[in-house]
Amino acid sequence: MTYNINTKGFYGQFGGAFIPEMLHSNIERLQKNYREITGSPAFKAEFDNLMRDYVGRPSPLYFAPNLSKLYGAQIYLKREDLNHTGSHKINNTIGQILLAKHIGKTRIIAETGAGQHGVATATVCALMGIECLVYMGATDIKRQAPNVSRMKMLGAKVIPATSGSQTLKDATNEAIRDWINNPVDTHYIIGSVVGPHPYPDMVARFQSVISEEMKWQLKAQTGNENPDYILACVGGGSNAAGAIYHYIDEPSVKIALTEAAGKGIDSGHSAATSVLGSVGIIHGSKTMLMQTPDGQIVEPYSISAGLDYPGIGPMHAHLIESGRAQVYSATDTEALDAAFELSRIEGIIPALETAHGFAVLKKMTFKPDDVVVINLSGRGDKDLATYIQHDPNVQ
Ligand SMILES: *Cc1c(COP(=O)(O)O)cnc(C)c1O
Repeated sequence: MTYNINTKGFYGQFGGAFIPEMLHSNIERLQKNYREITGSPAFKAEFDNLMRDYVGRPSPLYFAPNLSKLYGAQIYLKREDLNHTGSHKINNTIGQILLAKHIGKTRIIAETGAGQHGVATATVCALMGIECLVYMGATDIKRQAPNVSRMKMLGAKVIPATSGSQTLKDATNEAIRDWINNPVDTHYIIGSVVGPHPYPDMVARFQSVISEEMKWQLKAQTGNENPDYILACVGGGSNAAGAIYHYIDEPSVKIALTEAAGKGIDSGHSAATSVLGSVGIIHGSKTMLMQTPDGQIVEPYSISAGLDYPGIGPMHAHLIESGRAQVYSATDTEALDAAFELSRIEGIIPALETAHGFAVLKKMTFKPDDVVVINLSGRGDKDLATYIQHDPNVQ
């Protein structure tokens, strides 16, 4: 069993590149060149420098004593929340902006849900002096206002997507439409391990710095580079992909992925894609997605804008189908509870997306010496309005 892509960009039956004619030359060029460009010593040196001095890597691996006591295991947090701009997203945007520069693109577009990818993209475009447009669902513009202000301050243009549920899926549709109209000068920085090949593999490689660091950090702190469990939330799946990348072929490391159940899996207001979904094509990739029997996409729902997506990356669809990864889900309420718990006992306010990954601690059983790593994908500043609204002690 291989968990990696084949030469056509498929993970098992999932993946590939199902794209309109107008995008063929762009995508084909990326497919042919991304490994060579990103693997060159000059690219790597520039990437590593920015990771260290601009992003602040390595991100710490923190032993969480209070959480460990509460759940009866040795729990470590991989602190992606401490990165510049507040989440793991910057690892990928730095990689892709360097790639865009290398292939001579002068205009950058991106989609964003929670705004973390939009902020990370606007940030690297400011750094490189490149024009930046970010598509964002009108619903998300309202619920993630601090990030909208940040993008604007960084010089990006934020364009509201007003179709469908006005969330991440709709922003992605608009970004793809823009790219079809501007194929020559524009690079589309996709924010997760979704979209046509080579995006899922390319984004996973940029994010793989997370598990690369985890290996030596765990070795230094526990004497063993392999944990027993890795936990992460999944929207498209990029933070999870980065956290498990160097452990996929290590069967002793169990993988627990958490999707957003919204108001409950059977409530009709959910984003639990791998439970509610079936095989289909979304945004250029064959994967699991939420759809009606005649192939119309079902509008997803989650309190967290970053998980409010009806699909899942093809890598994760394959890991789940093959049994390599266990999939869990957490409701809005369970995620909120987990966010308040982490804030009060460890002094860390997580992003709402991240809180879903913590909520499953209550649904799992551990042995006292199990080493559990949770990928703390982002910080909660952007979600403060939602937290205040739901916390009786804050009101
Ligand atoms: C965007 C985001 C996610 C979800 O995206 P993935 O690609 O699944 O990682 C999770 N956590 C945070 C903090 C995010 O910003």
